[in-house]
Amino acid sequence: MTIRVGLGFDVHRFAEDPARRLVLGGVELPLKPGLAGHSDADVITHAVADALLGAAGLGDLGDHFPDDDPVWEGAESTALLARVVDLVTAAGWRPLNVDCAVVLDAPRLAPHRARMQQRLGTVVGAEVSVKAKRAEGMGAVGRGEGIACWAVALVERE
Ligand SMILES: [Zn+2]
Repeated sequence: MTIRVGLGFDVHRFAEDPARRLVLGGVELPLKPGLAGHSDADVITHAVADALLGAAGLGDLGDHFPDDDPVWEGAESTALLARVVDLVTAAGWRPLNVDCAVVLDAPRLAPHRARMQQRLGTVVGAEVSVKAKRAEGMGAVGRGEGIACWAVALVERE
């Protein structure tokens, strides 16, 4: 069996627009503001997509979905992730599992983790785990300016 691993990273700052919705791991949280970005700025879903693309040797999210392409303005990132899973599958790879480490000061992810894991797992077609970590006040994320996420994905050759 041939297996490969991929690493994804993403970071988004909080939006200046107080009405911007907050979408994390494919779940809209009842909190504002959301993160700034061209799509819905779902930092977890973007990191997962990059990890899968990396594992399959297919470049990164920006290669496939340029952020100056109006098609993706305000797009649901889970739709992007579904496209990525199609690309990975078409290249002969099957996702085995994904693990995410989200670094943020607020909000608390614990109440939403199960829904995120379920939503992402459904889109990826494999187990996705989401873990949250605080930055202990250090750096931009520690000052609550944004959210960062790392993800690793394992795929096997079909
Ligand atoms: Zn992103």
